[in-house]
Amino acid sequence: MLKFDVVIVGSGLAGMTLALHLAERCKVAVVTKRDLLEGSSSYAQGGIAAVLDTDDTVEEHIRDTLVAGAGLCNAATTRFIVEHSKEAIDWLIDLGVPFTRDATHQTGYHLTREGGHSHRRIIHAADATGAAVTTTLGQKLKAHPNITVLEEHIAIDLITSKRLGLEGRRAYGIYALDKQADRVVTIAAPHTIIAAGGAGKVYLYTTNPDTATGDGIAMGWRAGCRVANMEFIQFHPTCLYHPHSKSFLISEAVRGEGGILRLPDGTRFMPSHDARAELAPRDVVARAIDFEMKKHGLDCVYLDISYKPAHFIREHFPNIYAHCLELGIDITQEPIPVVPAAHYTCGGLVTDLAGRTDVDGLYAVGEAACTGLHGANRLASNSLLECLVIGKAAAADILATPPGTQPAILDWDDSQVTDPDEEVVISHNWDELRRAMWDYVGIVRTNKRLERALHRIELLREEISEYYRHFHVSNDLIELRNLVVTAELIVRSAMERKESRGLHYSRDYPETLAEAHDTVLTPQR
Ligand SMILES: Cc1cc2nc3c(=O)[nH]c(=O)nc-3n(C[C@H](O)[C@H](O)[C@H](O)COP(=O)(O)OP(=O)(O)OC[C@H]3O[C@@H](n4cnc5c(N)ncnc54)[C@H](O)[C@@H]3O)c2cc1C
Repeated sequence: MLKFDVVIVGSGLAGMTLALHLAERCKVAVVTKRDLLEGSSSYAQGGIAAVLDTDDTVEEHIRDTLVAGAGLCNAATTRFIVEHSKEAIDWLIDLGVPFTRDATHQTGYHLTREGGHSHRRIIHAADATGAAVTTTLGQKLKAHPNITVLEEHIAIDLITSKRLGLEGRRAYGIYALDKQADRVVTIAAPHTIIAAGGAGKVYLYTTNPDTATGDGIAMGWRAGCRVANMEFIQFHPTCLYHPHSKSFLISEAVRGEGGILRLPDGTRFMPSHDARAELAPRDVVARAIDFEMKKHGLDCVYLDISYKPAHFIREHFPNIYAHCLELGIDITQEPIPVVPAAHYTCGGLVTDLAGRTDVDGLYAVGEAACTGLHGANRLASNSLLECLVIGKAAAADILATPPGTQPAILDWDDSQVTDPDEEVVISHNWDELRRAMWDYVGIVRTNKRLERALHRIELLREEISEYYRHFHVSNDLIELRNLVVTAELIVRSAMERKESRGLHYSRDYPETLAEAHDTVLTPQR
């Protein structure tokens, strides 16, 4: 059994922020299921929103966030996070993150503007901000004597008072599968943090890396935490559709520079959906593409910029041009096959401003959590900011909380299970789940589709639980078990919402109600 003061599940920006804020005074374990840098944080391109320019104000950043959130943002959370935005960026700069500089700007850094922001307030490191941040922080993490990084370890479940047959609702650490040794290790700690990211992989198409399987949300739910607003999944309208390219975004700038969306026969379809055509907001474009794909039974639609001069395309979109060319698509000559893709999970485990969940000793931070910042739709570049601000607040809360006494903890018992005989069950169920979520719980929802999805999910849940009880755990089985829980939480939340708001659009309830309410699900405890 391994013992630490704090165990953190996940090494994205949320997990790294916590680890670095805690390590001066605590022994910290960072448990991560692939290598240290694998996770959505490293993929973030755009940047981090913060009030840095003296012409910008906290009030305006708050207002932009509330407008995007369609009436559902928590005002106190939004204020707290935005008020601490400058401090969060200063911390990253002090740690040496190489943000893009601009000597002519009062801050010394280049700030960009993104959709929904009324000011230039996105600090970035060229078009690979996430990688710059996680690489810098990752080096500090690995060098810190108080931080133990356990790569290739996948958390299976929390060790809770219930599991130990004790009174109360408390977490005492985790069980994790050491994938290389193929054995389950017990990691005990008085404070446990879920920083395991979002759940994009629950959908057939996603911009998220393979790690985004909702593990943290599902583990917290099983341990007794409430989840909120899981129906709000943000879809990016244009992800490259190609069998050999996972998760490659075709930037919205392609539409901004004149890219036209077409059906396979060349017909342009956006003007019949919105007067702004291809320049309509993200969710409108994603909905229109989804409508056309479902109506015509298509695998993808096409984004065509090939009518522009070749030098213009190569100059403006060098990365997209090069990546597509590698796959045999010359975007100066032909249209780009695209699909919308699940991009961001707005909901998650309910927490307060210090990341505390409903379970004592358990915190959730980052995309796995729901602080109320994003409401019904996330404002671009607010998510990395949330990881930084809530991560620091959670660390402060942990340092101020006495650890309490640890009970005797039982090791993982797998004496009753055998090796799986049919791995195909996992891959089949995995595909079926993601396809069902895509077809029935995607961008446009109806009561009928949600009922169909729930029915299938319940069958899959039964089959997977049966499998889980009888066979040794593996990475894929753990992820599938979590995906199916997360899928059910999304569907049940969507069924509870009898209106269309933000990212949740229902054909049966197209109106937005006058009053906004969070969808909160409570597990059986
Ligand atoms: C392509 C892309 C571009 C984006 N661009 C931006 C942007 O410009 N600005 C912005 O603010 N946001 C952006 N986002 C969103 C943002 O990147 C994420 O919301 C944020 O990085 C989430 O951080 P996190 O630490 O919560 O999770 P992640 O960074 O996803 O980290 C989760 C970690 O948990 C680990 N993990 C998961 N399950 C387990 C388990 N069972 N056991 C052990 N470890 C586990 C993973 O391996 C990973 O290390 C983008 C997202 C994507 C996908």
